[in-house]
Order: sequence, then structure tokens, then C-alpha cells
Amino acid sequence: MNNNDQTAEETLDLTADVIVIGGGPAGSAAATMLARKGWQVIVLEREQFPRDHVGESLLPASIPVLEELGALPAVENAGFLPKYGATMVWGSGDAPWSWYFKETSQRYSHSYQVWRPEFDKILLDNAKEQGVTVLEGHQVTEVIFDGDEAIGVEFTNSNGVPGEAQCRFVVDASGQSTLLARHLETKKWDPFFQNLAVYAYFTGAKPLPEPDQNNIFIESYRYGWLWSIPLHTGRTSVGVVVDSKIGQEGIQQNGAKAFLEAQLAQSNHTKAMLADAQMDSEPNVVMDWSYTAEKLFGPGYIIAGDAACFVDPLFSSGVHLALMSGVLAAAYVTTALKRPTIAEAAGEVYQELYLKEYNQFREMARLFYSSNLSEESYFWEARRITNTDEYSPRHSFIQAVAGQPPRGYERVVLDRGQAPEEFIESVRAVESERVYRTQWLAALAADTQRNQILNAVPRLADGVAVQRKPVLAEGEFVPGQVLNTVSQPEGTPCSPLVAAVISEIDGQKSVADIVDGLGQHLDQAGHAQLEEAVSRTVEILYVDGTVAGLVTE
Ligand SMILES: Cc1cc2nc3c(=O)[nH]c(=O)nc-3n(C[C@H](O)[C@H](O)[C@H](O)COP(=O)(O)OP(=O)(O)OC[C@H]3O[C@@H](n4cnc5c(N)ncnc54)[C@H](O)[C@@H]3O)c2cc1C
Repeated sequence: MNNNDQTAEETLDLTADVIVIGGGPAGSAAATMLARKGWQVIVLEREQFPRDHVGESLLPASIPVLEELGALPAVENAGFLPKYGATMVWGSGDAPWSWYFKETSQRYSHSYQVWRPEFDKILLDNAKEQGVTVLEGHQVTEVIFDGDEAIGVEFTNSNGVPGEAQCRFVVDASGQSTLLARHLETKKWDPFFQNLAVYAYFTGAKPLPEPDQNNIFIESYRYGWLWSIPLHTGRTSVGVVVDSKIGQEGIQQNGAKAFLEAQLAQSNHTKAMLADAQMDSEPNVVMDWSYTAEKLFGPGYIIAGDAACFVDPLFSSGVHLALMSGVLAAAYVTTALKRPTIAEAAGEVYQELYLKEYNQFREMARLFYSSNLSEESYFWEARRITNTDEYSPRHSFIQAVAGQPPRGYERVVLDRGQAPEEFIESVRAVESERVYRTQWLAALAADTQRNQILNAVPRLADGVAVQRKPVLAEGEFVPGQVLNTVSQPEGTPCSPLVAAVISEIDGQKSVADIVDGLGQHLDQAGHAQLEEAVSRTVEILYVDGTVAGLVTE
């Protein structure tokens, strides 16, 4: 069905399995995956695409998701500039430094700087091609509830004709409109990130020197930070993030254009890059306050993308979070429709997975804000992490790296920024513990060729448990098992072998006893294979701290 072919009467009464509100990256991703599962899906999008949108710089983590959606070839062929990393003026000095995705990912070493009107249209067209009905110019005005269950939506089309759509499930992907979170009054603002962004497009900007010419450039300055994103159209997206209150006052006094120009004038490198450039669009002002909805799912509905939560754009994470949550939301809806008995548990897993990824970016951004000592000012002072129970640097570290040694951007906080002392200590503790444990195992293996590990008695760290929980498998949630640890309390899916080994560890049995217990019915060759697999599993669990100790005598 094409919106242009419709008469007003035809739009008044719609039915579908799933109604998706909003055709941005989250809505397109959710709709595509749902249509693939055979559900009848309608996307109601209030704008006509291509529509303007801020947020051009993507992360490599989105590449496999685009691949899964079937949209990667079109994105690759659109001519967008490949993005290999970021160049920043941040930390303790004024010299730009770069870091590259290939430093942390061999598989996906680039992403793209996309022109969002075109990129978002590619995703929405891709959804149509996979069987989704897309109605542009249809603004959802309300979600219809029967008790606490969402059963449809009310909408108005671009001719002003009202209509109703009945469905079994509603996916809210309405972006910063946060339709359901506002209706349910569950939107919680983040006190740490209350910023405002002003951005415009320039022609004739000087690129960064090779090989960084396609990088996003981020420059901190006295009152906040600036981004420059080169685009394949020859334009550059340039924006400034400042304190919300100060930004509003400045814009009220002099207007957005003068405010943006005044901020650019105070920068060092960005000003030089724009010396011969022209601003060729009116500046846009967007509120850049981070928030989360308290509950991301309920009877008959789920919330994805910015409609669920939004985090400061410092790490260009928004589109990635939107795509990822769209795919996960589709898995949840399919599960709820097919297996209602595990719907509640699957919804909890959706919420945990999404908020975990969200919180990693949030905490990384907090650490970065806190680590910028290049400028002393109210803006930067107000954004230091202080030692409260909820927001200590250690808490931030654990959230940002989920118990793993820091690798990507978070590694750079250590190397380039002036990270809070407590954060540095936490990193050192994790890293030196891992090095020690790896060396200890190597010495053990060199000593007696693995017999020692078989004789060792493993002991689990506090808080480690295996829990039955829905896990993702082929686009839906199915009953499975996860490993809970102190740093990953929500659990990470684990194989049946890991689950079996963990449940056998009691601080009394040796690794050999565990193998015997698990391999009672195996022949000699099978037993030898199991011995190897269990020994290796215990070693890995020991290095990452899930096994707290290995007693060898
Ligand atoms: C200043 C700033 C800079 C950013 N920079 C980046 C960046 O460089 N990289 C990055 O990845 N992210 C960035 N982001 C974030 C990114 O733009 C968003 O996270 C992303 O667009 C979220 O996708 P979404 O699908 O959830 O929402 P959206 O892309 O906003 O899509 C929501 C859609 O819903 C439609 N809609 C809204 N209400 C209704 C309704 N009632 N009925 C029907 N349709 C409706 C809208 O028209 C829209 O098309 C930035 C954000 C800001 C504020």
C-alpha cells in the first residue's frame, strides 16, 4: 500500500499484527525484522521521507546490524564517506589526537558518515521491500489502551483525516517525541547531561590532514565541545554542545546563528577548519538532555530507540542504539505473540540488554566529560564525576567496561585524558589481576602439562550463578541460560557446557571430578575431549574472575 495511492476513507480503519510508530532507524529495524517473521506490520510515520535529521556519524557496531537487515549493500552504494575513527582535542592538551576503530575491532574497522535524510530513507525503503506497509504523513496522536494493554493507535494523516489502527502489538519508535513514555509518565531526565546543541551545515571546510580526513573531529573548548563531520555531499555538519541554561540565554539574546558563530570563534582548530567556509543552512537548536523511560515494555507494547532512552551524542552512539534496540524489540514482539508464557521474562531481558548497552555509552561519556582538563570553566567543573554512592568513578568504570579491561574509547581516557584517580586504580586492578592469572596458568601448564589444572579445585567468585532466562536465538527469545557475575548481574548467555561446569563447582570437587561427573556415559575418546573442554573452560573462567581461585594442593 502506498500512501499516495490512498484516499482519506481508506486510512481511517487499519488493522495489523504490529503497528510501529515512527520510521527512523529504530522503527525501520523493528518493522523489517517483524515482517521477516511473517507478521503483518504497518509503520506510521508523521513526516514524508527523506526528512531532515541530526546524527550523521555512525559506529562500526551498526555494520553487522545493517547487514542483518539486508540494507548494507544500499548503504555501501550510497557513496557515504567511510569513517575510520575519531580525531579529538580533549584531555590535557590542545593538540589533536586520533584513534581508529581498527585498534579494537579487526572485523569492522569502519563505519560511515551518512546524510541522514538519505540513510533513513534507505532503511525505510528496505523495510517496504521486505513486506512492511509504510504510511508516511501519518502522525500517531495516541496509543489506545484497554486497561493496561495497548491494543492500537489513533492517528491523523497529512490531510487532517483522523483514523484508528487496531493491532496485537505497538512498537513505539517515535524518537525524542517519546510518545509512550510521556503518556505513561515514565520519562526520567539524567541530571548529568543537560545540554543543548546548535548545528548547521557548511561548505568549503578544510578537511583534517590525511589519513584522518573522514574522521569525526571533536574539539573541547571553554564552554563545551564542537563536532565537525565531513559528508559525501561536500558539506560538513558542524555543531556545538553547551550547557542547556547558558545556551538558551545566549540564543535568546543574539539568535542561534550569532550564538553558533560566537562559539566557533572561541574554538581553536574548528575555527581554522572553517576559515574559508560558508554556513549554508539555518542553524538548528536541539535539546540534548539525556533520559531513560523507566519501563521499556508492557502488555501489548514495547519502546525502542530514542523513544526509550537518549544519551549525549559524544560517542555517536544514537543510531547504533536505535538499530540494535529495534532488532531486539522485534525479537521480543515475536516472542510475546508466539510464547506469551515467557513474554514478561523476555521483556525484562530486552530492557536489560538495551539499558546495558545504553549505560556503557553513558558512563563512557561521563568519564570523558570528567577527564577533560584542557579547559577550566563552569561547564567542565559542573561535569566532573564526584564521589557519591551512585555516581563514583569506580561505578562509572564498571558500567562503562562491564568488567572487562578497557579497550576502545575508554582506553583513551586513560592515555589522553586526566581520568579520576579512582577510575585509574580500578583499571589497574582489573588489568594486573588478569595478567597475574594468565601468567599463573601458563606456569601451571608448563609445569605438568595440564595435569595440575585437572587436580585443581576451583572456587566461584561471590555473586556467580547460572540462571534460566530467555536468550536470543534467530530473531526471537527462547528459554536458555545465562551466567550472572558481580560485574554482569543481568547475566550473559552461556553455553550448556559453561552452565554445567559452573553448577558443578562447589569448592570441593577438582576439575577431574567435575569431568568425571559430567562424562559418566562417555567412551574414552569422548572423555578425553570433555577433559580438554572443561579444563579450557575453567581456565577462561579463572582469567576473567568468574572462578575466584584454583587450589592446587
Ligand atoms: C545533537 C545531536 C547529535 C547527534 N549525533 C549523532 C551522531 O553523530 N551519530 C549517531 O549515531 N547519533 C547521533 N545522534 C542521535 C541520533 O540522531 C538518534 O539517536 C537516532 O536518530 C535515533 O533513532 P530513532 O529511530 O530512535 O529516532 P528518530 O531517528 O528520531 O526517528 C523517529 C521517527 O519517528 C517519527 N515520529 C515522531 N513522532 C511521531 C508520531 N507521533 N507519529 C508518527 N511518527 C512519529 C519522526 O518523524 C521520526 O522520523 C545525535 C543526536 C543529537 C541530539
